[in-house]
Amino acid sequence: MTTSTGPQTRPRRQARTAEVLHTTWLTPAMIRLSLGGEGLAGFDAGEFTDHYVKLIFPPPGAPYGLPVDPAAVEEAHPREQWPVTRAYTVRAWDAAAGVLTVDLVRHGDDGIAPAWAAAARPGDRISLFGPGGAYAPAHDADWHLLVGDESALPAIAATVEALPASASAVVIVEVAGPAEEQLVVTPADVELTWVHRGDPTEDPDRDPGSDPLLAAVRAATERGGDVDAFVHGEADMVRAVRRHLRVERGVPRGRLSASGYWRRGRTDEGWRHEKEDWKAAVEADERESLEEQVGPSTG
Ligand SMILES: Cc1cc2nc3c(=O)[nH]c(=O)nc-3n(C[C@H](O)[C@H](O)[C@H](O)COP(=O)(O)OP(=O)(O)OC[C@H]3O[C@@H](n4cnc5c(N)ncnc54)[C@H](O)[C@@H]3O)c2cc1C
Repeated sequence: MTTSTGPQTRPRRQARTAEVLHTTWLTPAMIRLSLGGEGLAGFDAGEFTDHYVKLIFPPPGAPYGLPVDPAAVEEAHPREQWPVTRAYTVRAWDAAAGVLTVDLVRHGDDGIAPAWAAAARPGDRISLFGPGGAYAPAHDADWHLLVGDESALPAIAATVEALPASASAVVIVEVAGPAEEQLVVTPADVELTWVHRGDPTEDPDRDPGSDPLLAAVRAATERGGDVDAFVHGEADMVRAVRRHLRVERGVPRGRLSASGYWRRGRTDEGWRHEKEDWKAAVEADERESLEEQVGPSTG
């Protein structure tokens, strides 16, 4: 679910093809992909700080070339030859130089997108849709709260960089450990907390509501005031934080951008398949809490 203060746009469905300029490991688990080339001419990012593209990956040995038009492929080829897409935040778009920067999390040995990026060489090409986007920080808020994991760090960093010197923000990012912390430069007054996750597979049934990340968010929201919140990353984490903000702190929908970027144990296809059920569960969190406070509706 995404609620936001600005209009929402979907990525344009016309695929473009970009060239790999170079790749850089920012941390042991975060690879930066710099893309350029004529295919990015007219790429129109800048309105939102959570702009994203959908990178398009044909399966190995696909009998078609670039640019990939997934709709045309789906008409002409069997399902096993269809490409998959993965969403990545526009960490930066340098319109003058024509350079698009995206940062990808490598999580273990799985993951189509990070494996492709890790093997990419200058001159390799990739098709993509976009940009889409939905969020920009609300300049009339008292303060900003930005919460996420590594997958949301590109959007959080882009947002923090865009804040004016007069803005105040609390940033809480969950990462695997100290080696995954990144430098974020901003003119704003920012309190940045890194929460170290450890190994979540050691206790896959742990309650996301008891996480150190949620504890940090609870402490931050003690300050009250009109907060503009951005909460993205692993779906169960987002649900727990969103519930706290909406139910316990009464943050209005229009002041909250919150969505599950991925879900533990699901590929992106699996996560997209169950996203509607997740949204319904998130809505139910709010209804049930309201009923606990005022009694069930008799209507
Ligand atoms: C709007 C939007 C913007 C996004 N921006 C970024 C971004 O800038 N950078 C980024 O890295 N991700 C970003 N994501 C999340 C990314 O699209 C998903 O994590 C995606 O599933 C990654 O694809 P994959 O090929 O690596 O793994 P998949 O093939 O989808 O999944 C393989 C396995 O890896 C697990 N997995 C997936 N993602 C993660 C993760 N981040 N950490 C740990 N395990 C994971 C899955 O649960 C699954 O078990 C964004 C998502 C959205 C919707």
